[in-house]
Amino acid sequence: VSAYDVAIVGAGVVGCAIARELSAHELSVALLDAGPDVGAGTSKANTAILHTGFDAKPGSLEAGLVRRGYELLGDYAERVGIPVERTGALLVAWSDAELERLPEIVADARANGYDAIREVGVGELREREPSLGPGAAGALEVPGEAIVCPWTTPFAYATEAVTSGCELLLDTPVTGVRRGDVFMLETPSGELSARFVVNAAGLHSDRLDRMMGHEDFEIRPRRGQLIVFDKLARPLVRQVVLPVPTATTKGVLVAPTVYGNVMVGPTAEEIPDPDDSASTRDGLDYLMAQARRIVPDLLAHEVTAVYAGVRAATEHSDYQLRAHAGERYVCVGGIRSTGLTASMAIAEHVRDALVADGLELGARRPAPELRMPNIGEAFPRPHERGGEVVCFCERVTLGEVEEALSAVVPARDLDGLRRRTRVLMGRCQGFFCGARVARLVAEARGATVEEVLRR
Ligand SMILES: Cc1cc2nc3c(=O)[nH]c(=O)nc-3n(C[C@H](O)[C@H](O)[C@H](O)COP(=O)(O)OP(=O)(O)OC[C@H]3O[C@@H](n4cnc5c(N)ncnc54)[C@H](O)[C@@H]3O)c2cc1C
Repeated sequence: VSAYDVAIVGAGVVGCAIARELSAHELSVALLDAGPDVGAGTSKANTAILHTGFDAKPGSLEAGLVRRGYELLGDYAERVGIPVERTGALLVAWSDAELERLPEIVADARANGYDAIREVGVGELREREPSLGPGAAGALEVPGEAIVCPWTTPFAYATEAVTSGCELLLDTPVTGVRRGDVFMLETPSGELSARFVVNAAGLHSDRLDRMMGHEDFEIRPRRGQLIVFDKLARPLVRQVVLPVPTATTKGVLVAPTVYGNVMVGPTAEEIPDPDDSASTRDGLDYLMAQARRIVPDLLAHEVTAVYAGVRAATEHSDYQLRAHAGERYVCVGGIRSTGLTASMAIAEHVRDALVADGLELGARRPAPELRMPNIGEAFPRPHERGGEVVCFCERVTLGEVEEALSAVVPARDLDGLRRRTRVLMGRCQGFFCGARVARLVAEARGATVEEVLRR
């Protein structure tokens, strides 16, 4: 039986951030995920905004962690090469009723320590976003909002953690927990023991919480569908265009992506099944109607992709981040719609909670030198220096594919390769590069092309 100081269950952006934080010390850490890759749950399907936290509920745990996470991830991204673009955002009121809510949003932003927010008149709004549809009543400028690569972020955390000795156990769902002097985590490939357990199981964090003997919250899955428009639409949108949020959702935004596309979404649908990340006719019709209203010219462009992510909402409005004193167990549940931004701050918080419960961190390990391969459009990419191009839509070179397949945390399937390099995500839908890329993955994994395609 492998024995660890800490087992982190769930290798989404949150679990990976925690693994990175703890692996910086002389500890034995295991990071487990039920799936075949890190960051392959909710963390791969969001709107990828690095939030300032201006609209968080003042005084909530989420507000504090988003604010700190914004600073930490913003700095870290620049340091290790995670694509981030400081576009800023305009929050647009589309009716008099929404206009009346702007002062309240400004007051909340100030209460959250964010003072850079300011009102913008309709004239200036039109000048700043000339493609906006008619009917805007006013706006707020939130200059700090940024867009970030949601895929490179967990890869960077996991790469750092694994380089520092963290054991990454993929395809390893925790199916049961026994408790003695240490925790015994049951998985289909055997048991492992851990002195401390961190629950970062996202949409299944309530189930794991129950396995750990608690019943503090229930996940109420809230799906968000999105539409990605072709790169030719990118000049239509200069920054993030936010709506006036409601009590349950931040609403439908229009935003550039770091890959040079424009996205519209997300919806907010309560669904029974946390794993149901399907797109639906109704959802897409709704988003198209929103696109037509917010930036009508978008509809002249092609849709490159649709996808959906599911938020780990709960019956509570705040994060369900609980340390169970004396139990050597920290639960990180209900990280619903800001977890990418807050990830590094959540990791610090969890570290401190574990220390308060008796974990000795030990000496600090030297931080590994890390520079992630860039997949952001705003920064130099390998194809600019030449090299054989495999995917022409997204201009991905063979060198990038080979690097991703042999990285410290390598791509193990087509989806993992897509998120590391951008292959298969262009306007041709993989028609051009699909066969070759599948062959490359098969060779690297010692599998057949059929097996790769089946995954
Ligand atoms: C539509 C949408 C838009 C969003 N927009 C933004 C945004 O713009 N900015 C932002 O900061 N945040 C945003 N978010 C929120 C953000 O994506 C999430 O908060 C974050 O990804 C949560 O990460 P996580 O690691 O907690 O969960 P996940 O990424 O879901 O990871 C949990 C992992 O746990 C694993 N797991 C579950 N059960 C077990 C088990 N029993 N054993 C082993 N492994 C298990 C799963 O396989 C999964 O990989 C958005 C979310 C959605 C859905």
